[in-house]
Amino acid sequence: MKILQDLNFTELKNLIESYKEKSFRATQIYSALHNGLKISEISNISKALREKLLIEFVDEPVEIIKTLVSKDGTEKYLFKLFDGNIIEGVYMKNRYGNTQCLSTQVGCRMGCKFCASGIGGLVRNLTPGEMLATISAVNKKGGGNINKRAVTNIVLMGSGEPLDNYDNVIKFLKLVSSKEGLNVSLRNISLSTCGIVPKMLALAEENLPVNLTVSLHQPFNDKRKELMPISKVYSVDEILKACDYYFEKTGRRFIFEYSLVKGENDDIESANELIRLLRHRPCHVNIIRLNEVKENNLKATTEKEAYQFCGLLEKGGLSATVRRLNGADIEGACGQLRRNYVKGE
Ligand code: SAH
Repeated sequence: MKILQDLNFTELKNLIESYKEKSFRATQIYSALHNGLKISEISNISKALREKLLIEFVDEPVEIIKTLVSKDGTEKYLFKLFDGNIIEGVYMKNRYGNTQCLSTQVGCRMGCKFCASGIGGLVRNLTPGEMLATISAVNKKGGGNINKRAVTNIVLMGSGEPLDNYDNVIKFLKLVSSKEGLNVSLRNISLSTCGIVPKMLALAEENLPVNLTVSLHQPFNDKRKELMPISKVYSVDEILKACDYYFEKTGRRFIFEYSLVKGENDDIESANELIRLLRHRPCHVNIIRLNEVKENNLKATTEKEAYQFCGLLEKGGLSATVRRLNGADIEGACGQLRRNYVKGE
């Protein structure tokens, strides 16, 4: 079975025309799908057309099967895919809009030591339509539609490495920002990577003004290799050069994620090295306190120390902030909720 949400507007129009239907049907179907409806719920097309589509395409590629609401208003969802796989997503309400955190793969093969998403390895890539369908489903649940969005911002910071699923992610970005659909501004979308350099360079060429975020977590390359195996392939130096190229091409300042792990990357030497590497670069550092995961022994730096670390960076001339922990009481860290669900806990 195929996923109708995978098609862009032109592809859908061609399909509908191949069915000998009027092309305005494509507009109706496209907007209904982006509004989060199942094929069987599209009531402004004929039953015969719905039935024809259902022979080839899955009725509901993504279904919300569990919702957890945190004390701070953050919502966490478990989605079931049509093949039974489970992914997760987070919805955070902010002053400036609502942000959905999106998964791009089932599992992940990057193996970062602190992260729960990678523990079981990569299961499979998500298709563009599956990523879109998670956004449409949450937008609908939040009371939004394509004309008045509940989801205004998207961060590709859920499970998976977006640049390890490059083509599908690029198509998703085009789908979700298409004017016939949800039309989310690309400037409100942030793509986060562990540093797959050739794909960062390719992204710079796409002419898509998304924000680039890099999970740095360790400025010393040898130590970063221990924390993030991808560093054995692409060095910190190469990553920073790719960021510079991204800025050159897009004019967009980049962001570094820095999750503080007790005794691993929260010392003065790390702060000084960050300052040395980043002082002259157009960037911001987001300091995060580690979300402790029970499968490893890594511990979070205390809140007080996190602010001290941030102070050091600021004193050294960097733009840096400590990010507040969203949804820590509902297993907000990457991959934790899915993992516990799949294990039956
Ligand atoms: N693969 C992409 C995006 C997914 S992870 C990437 O590496 O950027 C989103 C962010 O959460 C990354 O910065 C990741 O390093 C961080 N992260 C993962 N597990 C974490 C944990 N247990 N505590 C704090 N941050 C974590």
